[in-house]
Amino acid sequence: MGSASLEERVKELEQVCRSRGLPLTIQRRAVFETILERDDHPSADQILEQIKERVPDISRTTVYRILDTFVQLGLITKICHPRSVARFEPRIQQHHHLICMHCEQIIDLEEDRLNGIAYPDVRRHDFQITDYHIHFRGICSGCRSRAGGAELPD
Ligand SMILES: [Zn+2]
Ligand SMILES: [Zn+2]
Repeated sequence: MGSASLEERVKELEQVCRSRGLPLTIQRRAVFETILERDDHPSADQILEQIKERVPDISRTTVYRILDTFVQLGLITKICHPRSVARFEPRIQQHHHLICMHCEQIIDLEEDRLNGIAYPDVRRHDFQITDYHIHFRGICSGCRSRAGGAELPD
């Protein structure tokens, strides 16, 4: 999850909440700390499951809403890819992903040369690009070995 320590990231959360006038509730703190502890790009439901150990009465709606708030505040990243539920991660700096099309595992990929790609000219779409990251799709090693090296069906 990058170089900032858990403590530093929680401080960042406190600052952002204060500057936006958002109360730093137990629920918000718990969601943030839970996502910081994981590097496997969990879904909202996976975060909910883990958080219930600490905050048993938290609702699904609350977790979803808090995650969306954090994404809007730039505190976490939301990853969407076709045919799959949204996933979340604490890393906000640009990086890329290897996505297994079989088990949906997401692996972080750092490669400097992928970070400086010139944006395409999209003026005719009247679209404003703000950033990008690249998904490389394929089959992870675990799924390949389970399949005995054969190509997996879709
Ligand atoms: Zn896999
Ligand atoms: Zn990632």
